[in-house]
Amino acid sequence: MQHFPVFLDLAGRRAVVAGGGAAALAKLRLLLKTEARVTVFASAPLPEIAALAAAGRVALHRRRPGPGDALCAVLAYCAAEDAAEDARAAALARADGALVNIVDNLADSAFITPAIVDRDPVIVAIGTEGAAPVLARAIKADIEARLPARLGVLARPGKAFRARAATLPPGRARREFWADWYFRHGPAVLDRGAGADALEALLRRHLGHGAAQGHVLLVGAGPGDPELLTLKARRALDRADVVIHDRLVPPAILDLARREARIVAAGKQGFGPSWRQKDINALMVAEARKGAQVVRLKSGDPGVFGRLDEETAALDAAGIGWGVVPGVTAASAAAARLGRSLTRRGRNAELRLITGHDMAGFAEQDWRALARPGAVAAVYMAKRAARFLQGRLIMHGAEPETPVTVVENAGRPGAREIATTLAALPARLAAARPAGPAVMLLGLAPRRRAGAATAAPRASAPAPAREEARP
Ligand code: SAH
Repeated sequence: MQHFPVFLDLAGRRAVVAGGGAAALAKLRLLLKTEARVTVFASAPLPEIAALAAAGRVALHRRRPGPGDALCAVLAYCAAEDAAEDARAAALARADGALVNIVDNLADSAFITPAIVDRDPVIVAIGTEGAAPVLARAIKADIEARLPARLGVLARPGKAFRARAATLPPGRARREFWADWYFRHGPAVLDRGAGADALEALLRRHLGHGAAQGHVLLVGAGPGDPELLTLKARRALDRADVVIHDRLVPPAILDLARREARIVAAGKQGFGPSWRQKDINALMVAEARKGAQVVRLKSGDPGVFGRLDEETAALDAAGIGWGVVPGVTAASAAAARLGRSLTRRGRNAELRLITGHDMAGFAEQDWRALARPGAVAAVYMAKRAARFLQGRLIMHGAEPETPVTVVENAGRPGAREIATTLAALPARLAAARPAGPAVMLLGLAPRRRAGAATAAPRASAPAPAREEARP
């Protein structure tokens, strides 16, 4: 280890930045996270730096640094991005007694700046001795994703509560209490916006008094690709006691649940064996009453054809706290696959999410609006309704050549699109026989050639397989 990691106290102390360009601004952004008094020397500072000075956040001298300018400074960053000028400024700052860092010059620097994950007061500093900045950034991104954004908010009250938590026996009991606070109970409490006495309530539970308070989070799992989960959804899975999931949520996502979590498949299938809604409601209520953190995991977005309101009403009726975590709905994943916008200026200022069938059978819609040129709609549960949809739309004046694309397994393995027209839809669908979940995009054709959907964008304009038939 050539560089020894320490955390330097900058509260009320001087830090100097010599330079006014992008490198200087980057260092300023870091320094301004601290309580240092920051002085900048720059003949031609960027407007952002001038704005920081105007806002009183830094002292700005519009000239190069001279002798004595770094007196009493703990740190000096030489960031002129000019080797000769940086060497000159560094020599002056060293003479004034400051620790000097020259940007992008490891050999002449007394210290290096780590990659930082900031959850003040929790700070993670990552260093590679300047050898692998790309690796440092990758590690930083990994840790950023892993630590709750408000970990700091959780850590602060913890400090004052340490003495109170000492009523727990030392060792395992205390460790479990804090782990529960930082990673399970605390983040959930913050999500709910619950009060400051939450730590006390959690402590009482760990002391064996007071029942655990159950809670249900209704979480969108997205279309099926684990990478399309939100960070919030991942964290909810991380701390779940029970996960009650839909048929469409794949194992790769369920694998992300806490190891100890109980996983319950509560599948509902339009035409197959299914759980009744009231049984799902009863299960959520029963688990929450036992004190469990329940994740009700639904494919896509829980508020799109997910019977969300029925479940929240049941929870309200039982007096159980709940929250909703949105997800990427199938229509968004399908449009992304096609490389198409769901709305477009001058074409459709409206997007409809409709269902092919509901509990009463094929679903009636505002067919006149859907048949209008340029109309775009995403039809969920549409596979069996193709002929019905075609008939209704044509009857209401839709162009037979209207593009229709059925996207099967959008945002999951085995994704494919079946691009056709309204006229050819039933025959084309019967021939293609999609077996996976499929959403139908009325009024949209793929922009990219089939198979090119995951390729990197190219400089030349891609040749569209089939442009939209309508303006
Ligand atoms: N809440 C979900 C929709 C549930 S209804 C969401 O927001 O996406 C179930 C229907 O959603 C399926 O019949 C199918 O039409 C559509 N669907 C769900 N996942 C899909 C996927 N990965 N690809 C295509 N369609 C999907």
